[in-house]
Amino acid sequence: MTTAQPAYIDHFVNGKVSTGNSDDRAPVYNPATGEVTGLVAIGTTSDVEEAVAAAAGAFAKWSKTPPHVRARVLFKFRELVERDLDRLAEIITREHGKVFSDAKGELTRGLEVVEFACGIPQQLKGEFTENVGRAIDGVSFRQPLGVVAGISPFNFPAMVPMWMFPVAIACGNTFIMKPSEKDPTLSVELATLLAEAGLPDGVFNVVHGAKTAVDALLDHPEIEAVSFVGSTPVAEYVHRRATGAGKRVQALGGAKNHMVVMPDANLDQTVNALMGAAYGSAGERCMAISVVVPVGERVANALREKLIAALAKLRIGDGLVDGIEMGPLISADHRAKVAGYLDTGVQEGAELVVDGRGFTADDSDGFFIGGSLFDHATPDMTIYREEIFGPVLIMIRTESFSEALELVNAHEFGNGSAIFTRDGNAARHYVSNVKAGMVGVNIPIPVPMAFHSFGGWKRSLFGDHHIHGPEGVRFYTRYKTATTRWPGDVLSTADFAMPTLT
Ligand code: NAD
Repeated sequence: MTTAQPAYIDHFVNGKVSTGNSDDRAPVYNPATGEVTGLVAIGTTSDVEEAVAAAAGAFAKWSKTPPHVRARVLFKFRELVERDLDRLAEIITREHGKVFSDAKGELTRGLEVVEFACGIPQQLKGEFTENVGRAIDGVSFRQPLGVVAGISPFNFPAMVPMWMFPVAIACGNTFIMKPSEKDPTLSVELATLLAEAGLPDGVFNVVHGAKTAVDALLDHPEIEAVSFVGSTPVAEYVHRRATGAGKRVQALGGAKNHMVVMPDANLDQTVNALMGAAYGSAGERCMAISVVVPVGERVANALREKLIAALAKLRIGDGLVDGIEMGPLISADHRAKVAGYLDTGVQEGAELVVDGRGFTADDSDGFFIGGSLFDHATPDMTIYREEIFGPVLIMIRTESFSEALELVNAHEFGNGSAIFTRDGNAARHYVSNVKAGMVGVNIPIPVPMAFHSFGGWKRSLFGDHHIHGPEGVRFYTRYKTATTRWPGDVLSTADFAMPTLT
């Protein structure tokens, strides 16, 4: 259904909007109405080549710009995003579907990374040792890599790109962003604000598209590093192909985040936390809680009743309407996929206690589905093993804390995890022994602050570095050590032994 003329969403290369080298375009929807609101350019290999040429051309000057001068651009950018926060959040809600307050929240989390990147002069300070040998000094420091690329998923069109480019460009790299083709407008808006903040042309570029553009980035010999966030099969592929081409790669993948609920947990607090973490953003968060693991029948039964009551009150609709708590899914295909998982769960014998399949929003062709709850699921079921990425919470009942911890650790994903309890010893044991990259104690979505780093374990991350924070600085820089002696009054003689600098 189309009611207004869809907007053209173009690339941004060398400081300018560019229609690119192909007429190929993909539709962008408002998921709350089903309308086509935009037509995004689908980038070709030659579009990527032009962006790389622009970024490579800008690197020499940008990398030699003093870090505090680079940081000033980011200070200004931060102000501009803050100025336009409501406008940008509205674009996110219209293209992604998440509610307006959630869209503002993701922008704020992205801005926190910008704030971290504003402190880059401090992060790039090196190490100096006087007299590593007689009249010899040693200094170690970090240098930017060159042209780096970022590839992002649909679920955070602002925050995930902002996990990447602020740190990368603050470190002195130049950047090519390939946003999700499903909600691509935000990246171009951010490019425009960076230009307004004074970023030189070519330092930040956006190339839209899908597999062809991604493959061109992964193969291009002038791209030094790739940051990827998305699903596990694509993360694994990106890691394999780009490391094969000699690049540094961090590829963050999918998740199945568990929340263990101990018998002593505050149940009202737990249910409130679960509602936000399982159904917020329609479950389309890599840190969403998708499995709740109560310890003991009493807590399981009580949780089940409270969740049923809370789900009956969940307000679903267009995220721009006041009071709405959960918006639609990103696409009709994704809605069908999530509904398919609900069918599969029933066929496999889980109890579908709350069934979201029948939900329809009044007068709308949006991609809505209701919040759903499975009880009595088991670890062998497809709905437990695979990431659903929708508003579906699965309960797996356990009899003991150790059984719960074993369950969590046996899953192939290890992004985030949480424990709800009043027992300090249980919490401490969980934090120490859970095989996940991010852990919450009475915190359902433990997304690290920007000055720490974000990343999972196991098949939730391929590569060695987590993203943003100190790990981000390490990822986007190379370490160099110089050992220096100045000709002076210490006479040197030829020495054929390994230098020991005594
Ligand atoms: P996706 O893997 O389908 O797409 C991610 C990016 O890869 C997009 O830019 C897309 O254009 C590109 N892409 C897709 N298929 C490709 C292919 N075959 N070859 C090359 N490139 C390809 O992911 P999505 O559906 O956009 O996002 C949801 C997924 O992202 C979920 O699995 C979610 O858990 C994950 N995610 C993970 C994190 C994290 O931090 N670990 C954060 C957000 C989202």
